[in-house]
Amino acid sequence: GTCLFWVAGLSRLLRHLMHQVPPAEKYEYQAEVSRLMDLIVNSLYSNKDVFLRELISNASDALDKLRFLSVTEPDLLKDAFDLDIRIQTDKDNGIITITDTGIGMTRQELLDCLGTIAQSGTAKFLKAMKESKDAGAESNLIGQFGVGFYSAFLVSERVEVSTKSPKSDKQYVWESEANSSSYTIREETDPSKLIPRGTRLTLYLKRDDKGFAHPERIQKLVQNYSLFVSFPIYTWQEKG
Ligand code: ADP
Ligand code: MG
Repeated sequence: GTCLFWVAGLSRLLRHLMHQVPPAEKYEYQAEVSRLMDLIVNSLYSNKDVFLRELISNASDALDKLRFLSVTEPDLLKDAFDLDIRIQTDKDNGIITITDTGIGMTRQELLDCLGTIAQSGTAKFLKAMKESKDAGAESNLIGQFGVGFYSAFLVSERVEVSTKSPKSDKQYVWESEANSSSYTIREETDPSKLIPRGTRLTLYLKRDDKGFAHPERIQKLVQNYSLFVSFPIYTWQEKG
């Protein structure tokens, strides 16, 4: 038994060394994050399309941060001069990708931002939740604070965040399934998936939510939100 274990372990190690694929590391969500995800899924099931507003607003924030920093560090722009958001739909496979050329995240920032709620907006939201006795107040509070990144799991069975910060020479992938207590982080090694700078979110839609990958539906939602975003948002569809 022990021997077989070693052989299996060794062959996995060799495979990784030969293909130079660093293994994915697994992390547990902070308990508050799991709570927040349950809350989002349970109170917003009839209002699922907010996910797009939240993800566009994160892309826009990331672009704002980059634009701000580039005033004093113009070199930050050299990896990708265009500051924009691209939304691609693949309706046959039920996949939506949202790509921005914003500030991106380092490996440490992925850990800090998508796994804990150290980050202020969400922490305030949970505090308000704790203080409120009224169960019906949940959706109001969500509207007030914004539910953020985790709303991606309203419509997705799996989410991949591939991101490249100008502070790091490597691109990293954060990945999690809906209703999971853990997520993984690994280095992006597929050359076809490398981006010069920023973040690409890939949403693998739940069976019942694949309709969101219809280009007309996305375009309609984008039209509503793009009024509040100061960067161009391009949408296009995968050719069938
Ligand atoms: P909030 O936007 O209120 O901070 P979110 O849950 O929406 O909360 O996002 C959490 C954090 O994850 C953000 O503060 C940001 O640091 C990081 N993040 C999310 N999406 C992106 C993105 N597209 N590019 C860079 N960082 C991002
Ligand atoms: Mg946000």
